[in-house]
Amino acid sequence: MAARIEETFELFIDGRPTPATRGERRTLLNPATNTPLTEVPAGSADDARHALEAAEKAFRDSGWAIDDGSRRAKALYRLARALEEQLEAFALVETLNMGKTLKESRGDIGYVVRTVEYAAGLADKVQGETIPVPGSRFDYTLREPLGVTVHIAPWNYPLLLAIRSVAPALAAGNAVVLKPATLTPLTALKFAKLAHDAGVPPGILNVVTGSGGEVGEALVTDPRCRSVAFTGSLEVGRRIAELAARRVVPTTLELGGKSPVVVLPDADLERAARGIAFGIFPNAGQMCWAGSRLLVHASVAKELVEKVVAIAKAYRLGPGADPSSEMGPLVSREQADRVLGFVDEARSAGARVAGGTKAAEEALGHGNFVRPAVVEGATPASRVVREEVFGPVLSVLPFETVDEAVRLANDTDYGLFAALWTRDLGSAHTIARQLEAGMVAVNEAPNTFPQTPFGGYKASGLGFEQGLDAVKAYTRRKNVMVQLGGGKPKRA
Ligand code: NAD
Repeated sequence: MAARIEETFELFIDGRPTPATRGERRTLLNPATNTPLTEVPAGSADDARHALEAAEKAFRDSGWAIDDGSRRAKALYRLARALEEQLEAFALVETLNMGKTLKESRGDIGYVVRTVEYAAGLADKVQGETIPVPGSRFDYTLREPLGVTVHIAPWNYPLLLAIRSVAPALAAGNAVVLKPATLTPLTALKFAKLAHDAGVPPGILNVVTGSGGEVGEALVTDPRCRSVAFTGSLEVGRRIAELAARRVVPTTLELGGKSPVVVLPDADLERAARGIAFGIFPNAGQMCWAGSRLLVHASVAKELVEKVVAIAKAYRLGPGADPSSEMGPLVSREQADRVLGFVDEARSAGARVAGGTKAAEEALGHGNFVRPAVVEGATPASRVVREEVFGPVLSVLPFETVDEAVRLANDTDYGLFAALWTRDLGSAHTIARQLEAGMVAVNEAPNTFPQTPFGGYKASGLGFEQGLDAVKAYTRRKNVMVQLGGGKPKRA
């Protein structure tokens, strides 16, 4: 099993690997062992400005923006094929860098392939409309790319969440500057090189690694940045929205969640248990839309919780790169400590917790492994129930009536996702409308596809990614009105 990545990583600016101006490099650790994995350049505000300059020039001069879409579509299809061919190599790097299992990384990279294909298919379908207006006039709209778009990504799905917004922005004809998360920049750097080789012109896709405070803010506050797509925490999302608002720049915010899973007494409990586990334990629970609050009817709570606990206990923890591992480590020591802190606090306050301990055995003891946890008896006001844990921790809250379930489900600042398990079609559709969430799943674990919209209500965000509108979202409309001067219009 590879312990280090023997590949040199540089920033990717203007079509080539570019060392950081300050020459500093940052060591990344393998989360399974906390031993050095590789080094990456620590980019600076100067590097951010260099990338914006390259992007602006490419937007103006490369022809990417004014193409009818066919060149962009072809380049993106080639990119999807190239990524598919290198899926294994990308998956291994993602796993070693972030910790998730190889199976999960393969799924992520496959999803990126589909995302790029989907965007490619839309690239030549960005068009305006003609609008009937009074008198002898002709009115139409144009859809133009925004210019230089900035994309700031988190570490939990490093390539997937970066490309979810980058692909449509490229398809629409923009020039992109991407800042991956400080901990997980490797696959984004590899992807930029692949895009260049697939025919994306130099300067159209740039990647700058570095800290959020320095590189991220330099990108968002620069006058050349025409839009910001941010995926990450609520706290940083607020800061970015404030900075972008000062410049009146559109922002998409994909933020955190505290998603409810409502189980009615008539649900298929076997399927529900599997779906609940699949909604909280994959990716070691580091999912924005994790179904972290199980709201279950009191009459079936004991039976359902036993099933979920059995699934949780059976997870085989191990390094992501070991094919037999079913749950990898958390991304960093800090993240593992944070998650354990939530569980310990709940335990001290009297909650019953199955699991939720640090894996201490010889093979795992140096990594950031936390056993999946099911927490019963925590109050609705406790931190484990209210705050985003971002780890494999499920809190259980029983309810007696449907009204109470809906009230509990909506009793959160967030509104990203909600799931509902019932065999009754009427209840399913009625409750789906009452849930304050951008995405609702009925008898289904959290699931998404490039063609389905992804976004949150309330503090979970602003705007949606994916779906038919994804490419349009990276364009602006221009209305053109033409006076035909021919007097009163006549029928042909
Ligand atoms: P984070 O907010 O700490 O960081 C996200 C990105 O922002 C990183 O690239 C970081 O370097 C950058 N950043 C930090 N400070 C910045 C600043 N001042 N200006 C500009 N950029 C800055 O989030 P994280 O810890 O990487 O990811 C976890 C969070 O992301 C969780 O809250 C999770 O729910 C959320 N998330 C949301 C979605 C979604 O689609 N809604 C998906 C995944 C993760």
